Amino acid sequence: MANSFLGRCKYCYQTKVLIKNTHIIPRCFQKFVKDDDNKMTMITAGKNNGKEVYNAFWDSGLLCADCDNSFSSDENYTYQFFKQFRDQAIEPVNVVKDPHGITFQYDIDTKRIKRCLLSILWRMAISKRSEFKNVDLGKIAVLLRDGLYNNTFMKDTFFPVSILSSRNVNNLKAKVLSPPTLKVKFQHRFNYVYIYTLYLPDIVILFYASQQMKVNVQNIGIKEHVLLEVNQENGELMNELLSGTFKNLNDVPRF
Ligand SMILES: [Zn+2]
Repeated sequence: MANSFLGRCKYCYQTKVLIKNTHIIPRCFQKFVKDDDNKMTMITAGKNNGKEVYNAFWDSGLLCADCDNSFSSDENYTYQFFKQFRDQAIEPVNVVKDPHGITFQYDIDTKRIKRCLLSILWRMAISKRSEFKNVDLGKIAVLLRDGLYNNTFMKDTFFPVSILSSRNVNNLKAKVLSPPTLKVKFQHRFNYVYIYTLYLPDIVILFYASQQMKVNVQNIGIKEHVLLEVNQENGELMNELLSGTFKNLNDVPRF
């Protein structure tokens, strides 16, 4: 096949035909930002004059078809939840208010969501494409693969992932799909961890890049057998995150 070649799959480690289009950010996630003609405008941080494309965020020669397909079901599940959240078509089970903001809790399969999101972090880390150059996990990329492959990724301290809502910020209904543009160094006593942010419309994903968080993770991340939490922080944190990516929030394209 002209579009394929043999190689070692980075997920199952077998020598197989590797596919040409592995989506680093799932193709279904791109639906959020597409127009009626199925086109989207690529936005690069700091620039708002992106080019129009039909398909993006894929790379070649990483995965065999079986491994690539193994992520699809959880990607669709996660997309459906994000879409319902965006459209306010799903009711939270609880709404908890505290001085930091509001937490919406949903009765959703947290394991499927964390698996999908961590698989995206891993794919961003192994991709050589320039859009993902800021995601550099170094030696711990292989530990992330191992956790996903061996199904041990739900440990609270294993690469915690948080979901934030940005819909309260400046009425920002931003038409944004952006891979991490910077990593934030997060210090807790003598330990450091890097945080990567992935922007989707109305949703911001925070990845804590550590295979073994030494900080207290009690209140961080998606956990097994509990409700899924989406945190709508007071504007400050989100403004800070967004302004690290976009020079002027008013210039971010809206729906
Ligand atoms: Zn494979």
